Amino acid sequence: MSQIKVLPPQIANKIAAGEVVDRPAAVVKELIENSIDAGASEITIVLEDAGKSMIQIIDNGAGIGPEEVDLAFQRHATSKISDVRDLDKILTLGFRGEALPSIASVSRLEMKTCAANQTSGVSILLEGGVETRRNLVAMNVGTTISVKNLFFNTPARRNFLRSDSTEFNHINRVLKRFFLSYPEISYKTIHNGNTIYEYPKSSLDERISQVLGADLYNGLAFVQQDLGEIQLEGYVCRPDLARKTSDNQYIFLNKRPVQNRSLNYAVMQGFGNLIERSQYPQFVLFLKISPQLVDVNVHPTKMEVRFSIERAIYQLFLSTVRNAIQTDKIVPEFSMEDQDTNRKEINNHFRFFKSPRSLGSFTFPGKVPPENQNQMDLMLNTDSPEKGDEWQSTGTQEAEKEITEQPRLWQIHNRYICSQIKSGLVIIDQHVAHERILFERTLDYFEKQKKLPSQKLLFPQTLDLSLEDFLIYEDIKEWVEKLGFGVTNLSGRTILIEAIPADVKVGYEGKILLEIMDYFRENEDREFKPHEKIAAAFSCKNAIKSGEKLTHLEMAALIDQLFAAREPYFCPHGRPVIVTLNLEEIDRKFKRIK
Ligand code: ADP
Ligand code: MG
Repeated sequence: MSQIKVLPPQIANKIAAGEVVDRPAAVVKELIENSIDAGASEITIVLEDAGKSMIQIIDNGAGIGPEEVDLAFQRHATSKISDVRDLDKILTLGFRGEALPSIASVSRLEMKTCAANQTSGVSILLEGGVETRRNLVAMNVGTTISVKNLFFNTPARRNFLRSDSTEFNHINRVLKRFFLSYPEISYKTIHNGNTIYEYPKSSLDERISQVLGADLYNGLAFVQQDLGEIQLEGYVCRPDLARKTSDNQYIFLNKRPVQNRSLNYAVMQGFGNLIERSQYPQFVLFLKISPQLVDVNVHPTKMEVRFSIERAIYQLFLSTVRNAIQTDKIVPEFSMEDQDTNRKEINNHFRFFKSPRSLGSFTFPGKVPPENQNQMDLMLNTDSPEKGDEWQSTGTQEAEKEITEQPRLWQIHNRYICSQIKSGLVIIDQHVAHERILFERTLDYFEKQKKLPSQKLLFPQTLDLSLEDFLIYEDIKEWVEKLGFGVTNLSGRTILIEAIPADVKVGYEGKILLEIMDYFRENEDREFKPHEKIAAAFSCKNAIKSGEKLTHLEMAALIDQLFAAREPYFCPHGRPVIVTLNLEEIDRKFKRIK
């Protein structure tokens, strides 16, 4: 026989606590949200043993009047909404009226609170949600909540807690989000008696620099897009500052931290091929949007939100980042000052290299069938200075005139090409520069459905593949052929290489093919499209190496081709191709200026 009963509040709260508070970090989050909703301008967080022994949040917010103290601990009691229509326009962090009763039900909670119009405050102690003491206290306006012995009465939860360092990490993540989204609040954090953070109220800029470090801050570009009802602004990092972890990916929706993988992905997409797919760009982005368009009421901890206009917001993220890159906002530099003028200056400095294409007709002598010569105009001669002379003699009148004005180039350590520009020094990484050139060229060929120039091997090579390699080979065969490889299957897993791309050195064909397959295997789950992956692998493996000596004309040709590229500043993996060192920076190093 069934008996349906209404649960007593203590049990209901404990059940709710299971959802709302799963670990100390959740308590910290709920209490700080309440302080912010109460209008606090100063919040102090005191922790003992990563919050396991004690979490204390002290604020100078509005406080709670003595007649409302009881209500604060009742489930579904909230001062933040009163009408069902309010649900559509929530601007406070809390609104469910669940946190306080839930936390109180699984801890020993003491609250001291004093509202503005009161002469004294109220102190109340609850153990497992049951009030055990109440008295008046003298205190300033505000609220102090201390949560001790979290989960003392729910052993399963308690046992589930991880080491102090893990739990502290969770808290730290929560704190950082508040630090970033509310820079107008000053925070102090004390852990086991040590002050670990002390941030006075500040601007967003200053706060980011404090929380994420000046190095990252200096590598961030401000981005902004305003679509009226929806606005996005914040900071994204230079592609070369992408990291192996996604820790520093912050998105706030109306100042509330949100986790939305699709938006993180949109940012990634905005970077195009500039960031390696195993890396994560760092960013702090604030989305402002009318509350009617958002459903924050998806999960009790409100970390996830749903958008009714998800697609549009995805596009907004993507295009904001993309624009920042295309408008030169994100350039790798030693110093971020004056980056716009810098990029213009570099382009202008090398502008003569963009002269008629015929100038760059370098080939690998003896390897390219004559009919392919013109298609080879993007390649470099790496071993014949005589060919270089041909390069000059084929130039047009105008180009020759310009050559006399060409800037001087130096190669250092057989690795970097340097040149003086008005504002200082520009340094180009020869390998990544060539990689970028080859990458774009390969993609161009692919997109035009054309095969890259190919050379027949005098002595075809057989290659015995492992099963694993063979399967990958079968997958990418179509693209490998477009690269200029001529391959036929012999018996079993043996293949015969009869032709190779024109600019692959004879004897390296097997190695390059295997390297492309390795690259493919290692990067299986990337979002690069297969042909982009092939192009990236091929360019990386086939580009001139760091360590190869280049003649002046080869350097010139490389720069010519680089500046004809769509994206000369980054290699397909997001590594910078060009960096500048400002004169001012050099002067500062020599203590000429302070
Ligand atoms: P919610 O935040 O969803 O309203 P809570 O259980 O977190 O629910 O809090 C219940 C109520 O207690 C709040 O609506 C608010 O009126 C009051 N309250 C909680 N913490 C504070 C605080 N630090 N300062 C002032 N009032 C608070
Ligand atoms: Mg709350």
